[in-house]
Amino acid sequence: MPDEVIVIGGGLAGCLTALHLARAGVGVRLIEAGVIGGQASSANAGSLHAQIPHDPFRNLGADWARRFAPAVTMLKESLLLWRDLEALVGADLEVHFGGGLLVAHNEAEMAEIRAKVAIERAAGLEIDLLDQPALRALAPYLGHDAVGGAFCAGEGKANPLVVTPAIARAAVAAGAIIEAGTGAVTIARDGGGHAVVAGARRWRAGRLVLAAGSATGTLAAGVGATLPIQAFPIQVSVTEPAAPLVPHLVYCAGAKLTLKQAKNGTLLIGGGWDARIDARGRPQVDMDNLSRNLGVAARVVPALAGLHLVRSWAAYVNGTEDWLPIIGELPQAPGVFINYVPWLGFSGGPAASLAVAALVQGQAPPTGVDWAAFRPGC
Ligand SMILES: Cc1cc2nc3c(=O)[nH]c(=O)nc-3n(C[C@H](O)[C@H](O)[C@H](O)COP(=O)(O)OP(=O)(O)OC[C@H]3O[C@@H](n4cnc5c(N)ncnc54)[C@H](O)[C@@H]3O)c2cc1C
Repeated sequence: MPDEVIVIGGGLAGCLTALHLARAGVGVRLIEAGVIGGQASSANAGSLHAQIPHDPFRNLGADWARRFAPAVTMLKESLLLWRDLEALVGADLEVHFGGGLLVAHNEAEMAEIRAKVAIERAAGLEIDLLDQPALRALAPYLGHDAVGGAFCAGEGKANPLVVTPAIARAAVAAGAIIEAGTGAVTIARDGGGHAVVAGARRWRAGRLVLAAGSATGTLAAGVGATLPIQAFPIQVSVTEPAAPLVPHLVYCAGAKLTLKQAKNGTLLIGGGWDARIDARGRPQVDMDNLSRNLGVAARVVPALAGLHLVRSWAAYVNGTEDWLPIIGELPQAPGVFINYVPWLGFSGGPAASLAVAALVQGQAPPTGVDWAAFRPGC
């Protein structure tokens, strides 16, 4: 008996799509090659972003940022959904909205921030520009060389180690079947439906959702689609616990940084610094970039210099060249849907997954977001 829908990939995107489908009464089976939440969805830094990331803004420019604007709207909507996620799954996910603070250290960086904020506001994001006195009053923990910044009150954090397993448990409670540890599946057309194959095991479904993170492109090739999907090894670090120090999600305009303090007092330091790849293709921490990342963090928040680092790790982040999500049905393979939010998929996963669950059921996705901008092939 074929399944109604098979979701491939047990990260945040796949598990949340399965949860929404199961709650709508759709028969759904989720297939995960390894462990639920075993890849980017648990390895990430837990930032809930809505701002346009400053590093690509500097590198790709204002025209790129305007093209990225639909993703800002989508991220903003997604952070609203994050506010209800704990109630939806019935678990403490350590979701907290303390606001996101982008810090400038000179007037040139302030000018970049002003230009970026204008685009963000046009996309509907509420974000305030701060001069130096306002910045000091809001964030006395910053170094004295900070000259101003931008504050987005809607940004926050959650604990990535607990989020995806909790969503998976809720999906099972709602009636989804989850099969983990199958090994990587492949897909192919099969009569009027689709076959999903892992070794000797084979499943059939009329509709598929591909939510396999950076492996989504390889999967989609099985039904003749070419998607511009990339994977990059990046790294994150965590300190020993400290007394409450940083209530915000902190970014730096001059260099890559994300910094936040978790509920247990540890400080997570990231920002998308490159990791290395070993001879077997596994991501490994790059010590030079670790040192640079920590240097930026200690400049922005000098009190960090007195803390011990307890762990650094590396993982593949899913990307696209233009940073835009890919969401919707494949034109060359009707019945196959993509749920892919690059770079910021922890933040954007709730909105994307709600939209994909609607599309799979032949319904319109939630209003307020230009979903057409993310259609495969756009
Ligand atoms: C170090 C790091 C830090 C990050 N920090 C942040 C952050 O702070 N905020 C933020 O918003 N985003 C962040 N991200 C990005 C975010 O984590 C990802 O965009 C998001 O988790 C993607 O979720 P996903 O469910 O699409 O993919 P994944 O979590 O990668 O899940 C995909 C799943 O599919 C499975 N799979 C793959 N191929 C197959 C196959 N053929 N058959 C069966 N199963 C398969 C994999 O095993 C995996 O479990 C970060 C990423 C990394 C790596």
